[in-house]
Amino acid sequence: MLTRISTTTHEEVYRVTDAPSGLDGFIAIHATGAGPAAGGLRMRSYARAEDALADVLALSRGMTYKNAAAGLPLGGGKAVIMGDPRRDKAAAMLRAMGRAVARLDGRYWTAEDMGMSPEDMAVIRQETGFVAGLSDGLHASGDPSPVTAEGVLRAMRLGARHRFGDPDLTGRRVALQGLGHVGRHLCTLLHDAGADLCVADPVASNVRWAEADCGATIVDPAEIHAVKADVFAPCAIGGTVNPETVPALKAGLVAGAANNQLSGDGCADALHGRGILYLPDYVANGGGIINAAAEILRIADRGPWVSARLDALEDTMARILDRAAAEDVSPAHVADRIVEDRMLDRAG
Ligand code: NAD
Repeated sequence: MLTRISTTTHEEVYRVTDAPSGLDGFIAIHATGAGPAAGGLRMRSYARAEDALADVLALSRGMTYKNAAAGLPLGGGKAVIMGDPRRDKAAAMLRAMGRAVARLDGRYWTAEDMGMSPEDMAVIRQETGFVAGLSDGLHASGDPSPVTAEGVLRAMRLGARHRFGDPDLTGRRVALQGLGHVGRHLCTLLHDAGADLCVADPVASNVRWAEADCGATIVDPAEIHAVKADVFAPCAIGGTVNPETVPALKAGLVAGAANNQLSGDGCADALHGRGILYLPDYVANGGGIINAAAEILRIADRGPWVSARLDALEDTMARILDRAAAEDVSPAHVADRIVEDRMLDRAG
């Protein structure tokens, strides 16, 4: 069942339920001015439905900014399912979500986010064509995580140049929070780049993999932000840069893949005040949606297309960091300004 929720901040918001499969979640379409709303489906345990709603509202708004930052003709949307993906996920539940997406007639395109895989997208595909991140098919883009990780690495190098005077990550200590789809790829890329890794993830097999394959030092998830490191890379849940963690950070650079890394507006200024360079998350992690967009937009020659947009995203990040340095403000504010100007240009 798709039940509309009234909103003044988003174009459309729905509670999505299906009792037989146990589906309970939300779909939020923030804006479709630039094109159909696109953004992944997240499955996560939430303490309360209000928390899931707050997450989908923030994430879908973030997708509007992310898609604009990446120069994509797409608006912002997102979906969440409440539940533990390892315990509660079921094909019937994904199909019910697929039917809900189908009912939106292409105003929202879904794809992978936390707790989802290309196999899950194939299940959703049985009910709707408005799904990307598939493994098979003419325009299939597969798992977006490797491209997301590549974008984060490029952004991290730019950040290192600004903050440490050298883009080379050799010998740089990186505290990596989360070794899921993106974190694992980023861990490998950083290891190959010569970085010295500290990692944390509540899943023991994930940290053991990083220790064995990348020579990483394992850190307690509650301590990873406070490790003595050059870079803190949040690649798990949102809000891990917050009033409690900012004072404890020892890194000079925050650069990661997680969406909505900052728990509130004040965090950007708090980081800037401490001399910690923050790379705006929706620019650093835009590689994944670029990868999925090639599928949504049915791009024939996806390789060069994705590569050109990753280059452009890197240029955008470089511009943001240059301007933030010149104005002595947090890059978070400059990113919002640049992207909001782009949105106004499009609307005009
Ligand atoms: P994932 O679910 O595959 O991985 C998340 C990992 O974080 C898991 O291994 C989990 O055990 C770990 N984790 C959870 N809580 C943690 C904690 N407190 N400390 C340390 N680790 C913890 O998700 P993902 O696809 O890798 O995405 C990671 C983040 O990046 C999310 O915020 C997601 O929205 C964002 N993101 C992902 C993509 C993508 O391409 N997958 C693109 C853009 C943004």
